[in-house]
Amino acid sequence: MMNLILLGPPGAGKGTQAKRLQEKYGIAQISTGDMLRAEVAAGSPVGREAKAIMESGELVSDDIIIRMLGHRIGQADCAQGFILDGFPRTVPQAEALDRLLADKGLTLDAVIELKVDDAALIERIAGRYTCASCGTGYHDSFHAPAAAGICDVCGSSKFIRRADDKRETVQARLDVYNRQTAPILPHYAARGSLRTLDGMADIDQVAAAIDGVLAVVHSKSQELTKS
Ligand code: ADP
Ligand code: ADP
Ligand code: ZN
Repeated sequence: MMNLILLGPPGAGKGTQAKRLQEKYGIAQISTGDMLRAEVAAGSPVGREAKAIMESGELVSDDIIIRMLGHRIGQADCAQGFILDGFPRTVPQAEALDRLLADKGLTLDAVIELKVDDAALIERIAGRYTCASCGTGYHDSFHAPAAAGICDVCGSSKFIRRADDKRETVQARLDVYNRQTAPILPHYAARGSLRTLDGMADIDQVAAAIDGVLAVVHSKSQELTKS
């Protein structure tokens, strides 16, 4: 059982690392952005409300997000734990998460912040695309499929780019992060659960740094169980 939060601005590498952790540890990746995009694609009431907000780079209302997440962490694939990717994004969301976890008798094992310069974020987002059938993430210059135009994981040759990954919207999303999301960092720093990692390193180096943090967290929790 391992419950984690991956924090960081848009393009920091949260989704990339969460997908890898899901495979390595068998815990569920919970991306509120992916969940919202699925609602938009399905044309559901939540999707209809969220579409324009997401395209502008602003945040969807806390009420909608908190309700969505509350359902999600109760699902069967979260029994071994979960990685929150893109949630919480506001102070009220962080407080709601504390209540949700307390109600379910769950704790957070680590909150990992990926730190990346603005210029690199803009480059990462501008070059980002994903496999249309399995959702694996790629990048024009930093992470191309091994065989050009063919997904490494599922072999599909259809890829998509997000509507909000336009250069014009990226700066707005970075501003939203600094204004509304960065203020939750002290919430976790104050309890000693925040670990800040250099997200500028390449994908494998960031992965190794995360594994290092988790190894320490894991050995601590085993000591607690023993004593
Ligand atoms: P987030 O989920 O935080 O928005 P992603 O994981 O989607 O970020 O990564 C954004 C883009 O940058 C993707 O195209 C991904 O392939 C690429 N990327 C992720 N991590 C790195 C890294 N450490 N170095 C270079 N590019 C990266
Ligand atoms: P990124 O990978 O760039 O960090 P996400 O895929 O997590 O972006 O989110 C895309 C968009 O979905 C956000 O810009 C926002 O409009 C909406 N969204 C996702 N998660 C949340 C959240 N926890 N609270 C409010 N809005 C959210
Ligand atoms: Zn694929």
